Amino acid sequence: MKILIVEDESKTGEYLRQGLTEAGFVVDLARDGLDGRHLALTEDYDLIVLDVMLPGVDGWQLLREIRHAGQHLPVLFLTARDQVEDRVKGLELGADDYLVKPFAFSELLARVRSLLRRGKTKEPETLRLADLELDLLRRRVQRGGKRIDLTAKEFALLELLLRRQGEVLPRSLIASQVWDMNFDSDTNVIEVAVRRLRAKVDDDFEPKLIRTVRGMGYVIEAPDQP
Ligand code: CA
Repeated sequence: MKILIVEDESKTGEYLRQGLTEAGFVVDLARDGLDGRHLALTEDYDLIVLDVMLPGVDGWQLLREIRHAGQHLPVLFLTARDQVEDRVKGLELGADDYLVKPFAFSELLARVRSLLRRGKTKEPETLRLADLELDLLRRRVQRGGKRIDLTAKEFALLELLLRRQGEVLPRSLIASQVWDMNFDSDTNVIEVAVRRLRAKVDDDFEPKLIRTVRGMGYVIEAPDQP
């Protein structure tokens, strides 16, 4: 069993590497997010222990990219702050479990073994944000329990936004992923599609989830709680 640790604090990183190696695992240690991303996307691991606060690419971004690349291996994230929002965010982004620092090594080992027993987590069948749900198998969307009919392109657009929720997606990326075309500034096909999607998904509901970030693109996210 091969484990990747992404941890920038060398003392903690070495401690974890040593402990997990002694417990019989093959362990790689990445000391920043870039190195962690490179290893996670090129090597074949059974589990990742991921620190949230990292220089360069942080743990959230890394987790998003790992999931976006279609890797469903278990991810145990380490957070220094005992914040409910952190935990919720991590789990929403597709982490499988978390530990709050400082923790006992025995506890980490127990979590690691339990996650490995559960095996690779399955591709989610439903993408969710607030009361919005997109069912990937049935190709259905509902919000607040109310069915929303979308065209194939609107569905693909919403799926892309939801898979990368919280991330501002440039029009060029949306154009290539949803329309399989190069972005041409003369076309307003994306603006039109986003407007139609918004009318269906946001107009009759609160809070509004799809946002235009001027000059940058679009993002879907739940507004911060007051
Ligand atoms: Ca750190």
